[in-house]
Amino acid sequence: MKNADWLKRQRAATPRGLAIQCDFFADKAENALLWDIEGNRYIDFGSGIAVLNTGHRHPRIVAAIEEQLGRFTHTAYQVVPYSSYVELAEKLNERVPGPGPKKTAFFTTGAEAVENAIKIARYYTQRPAVVAFNHAFHGRTLLGMTLTAKVTPYKKGFGPLADNIYHAPFPNQQQGVSVQEAKNQLATLFATTVDPEQVAALIIEPVQGEGGFNVCPPEFMQHLRQICDEHDIVLIADEVQTGFGRTGKLFAMEHFGVHADITTMAKSLAGGMPLSGICGRADIMQAPEPGGLGGTYAGNPLALASALAVLDIIDEEDLLQRGNVLGDKLQNTLKELQPSCPQIAEVRGLGAMVAVEFRDPNTGAALGDYAKQIQKAAQEKGLILLSCGPEGNVIRFLFPLTISDELFDEGLQILQDILLA
Ligand code: PMP
Repeated sequence: MKNADWLKRQRAATPRGLAIQCDFFADKAENALLWDIEGNRYIDFGSGIAVLNTGHRHPRIVAAIEEQLGRFTHTAYQVVPYSSYVELAEKLNERVPGPGPKKTAFFTTGAEAVENAIKIARYYTQRPAVVAFNHAFHGRTLLGMTLTAKVTPYKKGFGPLADNIYHAPFPNQQQGVSVQEAKNQLATLFATTVDPEQVAALIIEPVQGEGGFNVCPPEFMQHLRQICDEHDIVLIADEVQTGFGRTGKLFAMEHFGVHADITTMAKSLAGGMPLSGICGRADIMQAPEPGGLGGTYAGNPLALASALAVLDIIDEEDLLQRGNVLGDKLQNTLKELQPSCPQIAEVRGLGAMVAVEFRDPNTGAALGDYAKQIQKAAQEKGLILLSCGPEGNVIRFLFPLTISDELFDEGLQILQDILLA
């Protein structure tokens, strides 16, 4: 069977609501490389949407999963617990930014982590409202899509949405929103629409992922911390995309000089296995009654084994430092291309979480189609790139931090050739 045959069967068997980027099917993968079923080789700068900071099939992860596979794959943690859950919770309680004591619970997807963080914040504060930010992405569940600040395709036709969710502007230079403006708009929201004393949580991505790799200015994050302290609001940092070394720190919040009360995590937490978690202040996490949290698959044993290996790999292979080196190199390369490629409006990022935004140099209009062409051309030359941003005019880079220099340079060369073509 060829890619074309499977494409035909895919169209007949699965719904169009699953928008699929690649027109080839995966056969096998190793670190930063992926091969399709016809033997074509791709350099993976997408990491399955930010999941593989430790690469495809890291040998230590494979060994950890195999070891667990030989013992048990499922008991339901709430029925028969296992020690790996507790061990990972202890490690995260220690390493997630913010003063202790903390507690951690595990789930399966990023959206589920977000949902549970909101549930806990509501129980703790006994308040209904939640404030998220424009261009945020927090998932596709009912609460997730309501918090996500993009109508098409995430909310359109899927209503009614959840109640008591509000949005405020995220400071964004490219979109003309200054930090002061964002502060003012939040104050206006509190003055005109929702009483801050009714707000359970403020949820923010320290670097917006799907929204365009927009780095939150530290001054704004510090302002949010102050607002939350003033009104006893729970500050939730959604680190689903930024966590586990992507920004050059284990958690992005380490860059901001303030900490969240609850941190959500998923994606690279478990190096390719489905696992999410929330870690937060023990008194907040402790609020819901027994049975209020959990799930049949929440904290899968194979995924936990993998996550324990991920933390060791990040430490032992010095991946935080490696991410900073690779991120700087990528940003420098893109900035050097800027004079010859006037569509490059901005190169930005934090650590290895780097993006390039394309705009018409004359009108400033977002160049979504141009970004799509770059992505397509790269794919044809064997480089997988992801786009993001409200208008799809941003290419984001999510290469494994374990990528070799040779492959990284090969990927950069492909990118360079396309941008200069
Ligand atoms: N939060 C953020 C910041 C994300 O980037 C994502 C996924 N892109 C989610 C939540 C949702 O995660 P999942 O797709 O695992 O539900």
